[in-house]
Amino acid sequence: MPPPPAYDGRDEGGTYDVVVIGAGTAGLAAAKAAHAEGARVAVVDRGPLGTFCARLGCMPSKALLQSATTLARTRNAGELGVELDARPRLSWPAVRARKDAIVRDFVAEVVRDTKTSTSFTLLRGAAKFVDGTSLTVDGRRVVARRWIVATGSIPVRPEIAGLADVAALTLVSDDVLELDAVPESVAVVGCGAVGVELGQLLARAGARVHLLLGHDDRVAGLPRGPLQESLVAALSRELTVHRAVKIERLRRDGADEAAVTVVLANGETLRVERLLLAAGRRPDVDALDLAAAGVQVHEGVPVHDEHLRTTNPAVFVAGDAAGAPGILHAATIEGRTAGRNATRKDLERPDLAPTLRVVFCDPIVATVGQDPAEATSACRPVCVVRRPWSQQGKARIMGETDGMAQLVVDRETRRVLGCQLVGPEADLLVHLASYAIHFGATVDDLLALHHYHPTLAEMFPSLAKQAVAELDGAECLQGEIAATGAMQ
Ligand SMILES: Cc1cc2nc3c(=O)[nH]c(=O)nc-3n(C[C@H](O)[C@H](O)[C@H](O)COP(=O)(O)OP(=O)(O)OC[C@H]3O[C@@H](n4cnc5c(N)ncnc54)[C@H](O)[C@@H]3O)c2cc1C
Repeated sequence: MPPPPAYDGRDEGGTYDVVVIGAGTAGLAAAKAAHAEGARVAVVDRGPLGTFCARLGCMPSKALLQSATTLARTRNAGELGVELDARPRLSWPAVRARKDAIVRDFVAEVVRDTKTSTSFTLLRGAAKFVDGTSLTVDGRRVVARRWIVATGSIPVRPEIAGLADVAALTLVSDDVLELDAVPESVAVVGCGAVGVELGQLLARAGARVHLLLGHDDRVAGLPRGPLQESLVAALSRELTVHRAVKIERLRRDGADEAAVTVVLANGETLRVERLLLAAGRRPDVDALDLAAAGVQVHEGVPVHDEHLRTTNPAVFVAGDAAGAPGILHAATIEGRTAGRNATRKDLERPDLAPTLRVVFCDPIVATVGQDPAEATSACRPVCVVRRPWSQQGKARIMGETDGMAQLVVDRETRRVLGCQLVGPEADLLVHLASYAIHFGATVDDLLALHHYHPTLAEMFPSLAKQAVAELDGAECLQGEIAATGAMQ
């Protein structure tokens, strides 16, 4: 197959082997993978270019959180004997300006790569299917043999009585990242990654923040239990956590109607300046007219099989447009897989195991593989061991002792099945556990491997030692590193 033409600045329709809808992370990965298989590829995007991750997702949120974390560490500096002349605080305009500059650079790099890529032709405009073999891009007709829908996601609007009346006082994550001034008070509806990260950010920036946990009390993805308790205890120092909340209705009130009253089912009321809606995201596919292409949609998600193929075998789906898990590395993997599957007969599955998740609140929550409930429902006899960071040498030296670490171990094979971390550098440490799971490491392997002292990584032989003692019903004498705190 001849190489496709490079983007020459002119928007045109045309005929292609594969057309990808969406120049986000999933779409770009799909286009490059399909091109590598020899296909003539076009990517359609309505703009703005630059990927959601760089513009309004991972990167801007983490840039803002970095400032907030630095503030928290500085506020704790007295504990380490560092004297500060004044109580440190965030200058929101400076925090915003730093974030904006970082985002500008990231977006410029992606836009440049997207516009100059020799892997595909870029067609600018909104896509809408005509039938199973063609679509229009702002009126121009485009024909292809295979399609990949990679249009990303939009926030879910929860069904709460009175929400329409207070619409002007609600925020979604995009709004928080672009705030000119920090509201005086905020209630957060939806306490997954986005709600907890941005709720804590606003609290550190000066807002009074209420986290409204749902009926199951899940927070940052953690179910009820000791790890969740350790997180809630840490968060509660900076914001108010309300458990098992059911919102009865929302009311707009106050002299100038500039406040939202949240009426809870237990009769309690909260009066806040803004409501942050973080109740999840859903595929952004409404404008595509997928029905015209014969693609069924169930509860907002294009129906697809394990090969990312929809109910029209010529149409694949990837990234947030495919529904869960809605995280970046999954978008890349799914995009690559969809790109290959659109060009090959032997179809692949996206390899997303072991499931890795990080919530960049403070303390960080990072999990990989199976949690105790998942392992039990998979009928594995498991041993679960956990340990607080307050008993770990390096964490004590750092003065970062919030949270716990937990290991889920298969009783029969002694292999690590999962790891759940709430605590310092958990985003980095979880990758060690991920490697252990990937390579089928046992708790005995974790004890045999070398760990430098004193490091946070020593938590793993400590947990392994606990697990071995429990599995063997005897004290484990292996893996002693130091008498002080690191291993007890
Ligand atoms: C606040 C926030 C923070 C996050 N932080 C993290 C994080 O730290 N780590 C992590 O792993 N994940 C994070 N995520 C999730 C992550 O950003 C997404 O999973 C990822 O960016 C999705 O990529 P995508 O390619 O599926 O979609 P996108 O990058 O959104 O791409 C979709 C593209 O499709 C185009 N499009 C849509 N409809 C049409 C149409 N009809 N015609 C033409 N073009 C169209 C859009 O213009 C867009 O360019 C975060 C999400 C949020 C909301």
